[in-house]
Amino acid sequence: DMERDTPQQVLTKSVWILPCPLQGHINPLLQLARALAGRGVHVVFLVPKATLPERSSLETPGLSVLALDDGLPPDRSRGSNIKDSFDSMNHMESAFVRLLDASRQGVACLIYDAFVAWAPKIASSLSIRSSCFFTSNATACAVVCHIPVLIDRGILPFRSDENAPLPTSEIQGIDGAPDLLPEEFPVCITFDATHFRYKFMAQLAKTLRNASSIIINTVEELEQEPIAALRASVPIYTVGPLLLLSGRPSRLAVNFWPEDDECLQWLDSQTPSSVLFVSFGSMASPSLHQFQELAMGLEASGQRFLWVVRPDSTEVPLQDALPVGFLERTKDRGFIISWGPQLLILSHRSIGGFLTHGGWNSITENLSTGNVPMVCWPHEAEQRLNRRLMCDMWNIGLRLQQKEDGIVAKEEIVRVISRLFHGNEARELKEASTHVVQLVTKAIAKGGSSSRNLQDFQRNFISV
Ligand code: UDP
Repeated sequence: DMERDTPQQVLTKSVWILPCPLQGHINPLLQLARALAGRGVHVVFLVPKATLPERSSLETPGLSVLALDDGLPPDRSRGSNIKDSFDSMNHMESAFVRLLDASRQGVACLIYDAFVAWAPKIASSLSIRSSCFFTSNATACAVVCHIPVLIDRGILPFRSDENAPLPTSEIQGIDGAPDLLPEEFPVCITFDATHFRYKFMAQLAKTLRNASSIIINTVEELEQEPIAALRASVPIYTVGPLLLLSGRPSRLAVNFWPEDDECLQWLDSQTPSSVLFVSFGSMASPSLHQFQELAMGLEASGQRFLWVVRPDSTEVPLQDALPVGFLERTKDRGFIISWGPQLLILSHRSIGGFLTHGGWNSITENLSTGNVPMVCWPHEAEQRLNRRLMCDMWNIGLRLQQKEDGIVAKEEIVRVISRLFHGNEARELKEASTHVVQLVTKAIAKGGSSSRNLQDFQRNFISV
C-alpha cells in the first residue's frame, strides 16, 4: 500500500545507521540512509571522524551525520583496510553507547553493518529494535550463515595451517547456494582457526544468524534460491541496488582517496566504447609479478585503457612497478589514475569494457549506471563467489585462466580483452547483462521488489 510512503505518516523517531568504515561499506549504507530520508524518515548516520562524507552529500533533508572520535592519528586517517577500520570501530564503541543511551527515546531502530559485531548487543541492552545490513549479495550471505554448520560437520576449518593446500573437493548442501570449492568461499574462512581473519568470519556468521532481520543490497529476482533459504530463519529485505534507490548520485559520497577527474576529459576525447576500465576496488593488491603481466597484457592488447592503480596497491612505487618504457609506449592510448570517480567513468560513453575484481559494489554499480561487458578477476573477500554468480549463473562476465602458479599471464589478458570487445561472446554478454539490467530496473521502480521491501521495512521497523 503506497500511502505509507508519504512523509506525514512517518514518526519523529529516527533511524540510526552504523556503517563499518570501509570504502565499499560506508557508501551503500549512506545510500540506504538517503533512500530512507527520501521517504520522510529521520536518519542519523554515524561515522568515525576520518571518514566523514563530503559536505554536499550531507545536504539531504532528514539526514544528519554524526562523526565520532575514531582514535586514528591524522596520517592514518584514510585507507581501506580491515584492521584500521576495526580499530576505529572499537574505539567508537563507548562513545556510541553513551550517545545511543542518551537518545534512546527518540530512536526507532538501529541499522548496523554486519561487520560491527558489538552493535546488536548494545541495541538489545537498550531495548532498541535493530536490523543487520549485509553489503554483499544473498548468496554470500547464505554461504556465511552456513559456516557454523560446516564447523559442526568438521568441514571447517579447511586447513590447520596457512601453508597447507586447500582441499579440492566441492562442498555440497549449502542451503540456497551452489556446491562450492573451498577456494570459492570467502577468503577469510580459508585461514586456519587461530587466524584473526577466520575468527572474524566465524563471528560474522554468528552476527548474521542472530540478527532479527537482514537488509541486503541485492535484487530478489536475481537470487531467489538463497533468499528463500535465508527466509526460512530470518526476515530478509532486499533493497538493491541502493545506488538507484537513493536517487542515482553521479559520484560516491565517500572516497578514501582523492578522485582524479582528469581522466574524464581524457575519456571525452576517446571514441565510443573503445576504452577498457581496469579497477580492483579499494583493497585488492596484485603481486608485483602479476601487476607486470597485467601491464604487458594491456600494452600487447592494443586496446585503449583507463587503469586505477591505488598508491597502496603496488609493492614498489608505480614508476618502478611498471615495465621499463611502459608509460612512454602507451601514452596515446592509456591513462593511469590512483583513484577515480567510478560512477562517472562507468557511465561514460567511451568505456566499452570493465576488468573488475568482482567486488559487489563494482558489479552493481556497473549494472546500475554503465552496463558494459565485464571480465571478473577475483582477488579477495567473496569475489570468487561473486564470479560464480556473474560468470555461471547470470552470464554477465568472462573468466580468466590462471597458470599453475596462480598467475594470469600476459597472453591470457590479451585474449580475454579481445573476447570482451569483439565477436559473439561480447554480444552474448551484452544481451545477458541487458536482461539483468531490466530486472534491476523493474525492482527499483514503484511496486518493484526492492522498493516494496524498503517500504515494508519502513512499515515494520520504523513507522510503529
Ligand atoms: N571505487 C572508486 N574509484 C576507483 C575504484 C573504486 O570510487 O577508482 C569505488 C567503487 O565505485 C566501489 C568501491 O570503490 O564503490 C569498491 O567496492 P567493491 O565492493 O567493488 O570492492 P572492495 O573495495 O570492497 O573490494
